[in-house]
Amino acid sequence: MARHDHHLHKGDSLRDAAKNRLTERGEQWTDMRQAVFDALAGFGKPASAYDIAEEVSRAQGRRVAANSVYRILDLFVQSNLAMRVESANAYVANQHPGCLHDCIFLICDTCGQTTHIDDDKLSTGVREAAAGAGFEAQRPVIEVRGKCGECS
Ligand SMILES: [Zn+2]
Ligand SMILES: [Zn+2]
Ligand SMILES: [Zn+2]
Repeated sequence: MARHDHHLHKGDSLRDAAKNRLTERGEQWTDMRQAVFDALAGFGKPASAYDIAEEVSRAQGRRVAANSVYRILDLFVQSNLAMRVESANAYVANQHPGCLHDCIFLICDTCGQTTHIDDDKLSTGVREAAAGAGFEAQRPVIEVRGKCGECS
């Protein structure tokens, strides 16, 4: 991947970057989508559609179905606003909605804390190894389970 200004967003700046990315793709940034994004970004660790539905229901004082949250999360993943952490069966907000990477996740088995790193050299190596085996890689999943700095 070419060199670019790789900036990890937080808080309001993350929400703005996500909103820009989604609207650039011709999708609307609705109140519901914003509520789901805020809940996801506020979680701090991978969250399931049920976790998010519960959080949004609590924040809005009305029941929000996990199904509608799931559809929004799906749109977020397709739009690079969220990433799926496969081994946790859950989602995290993507801190760089404006640029594409095969994100690498370090997941603590003790506290669930998930650290996100980008190493394009490593993920390109995985893609090349797959290509060498005659396999067309759509999405390399690189997740490392273990103990975070605080738990070890
Ligand atoms: Zn980047
Ligand atoms: Zn990343
Ligand atoms: Zn931990």
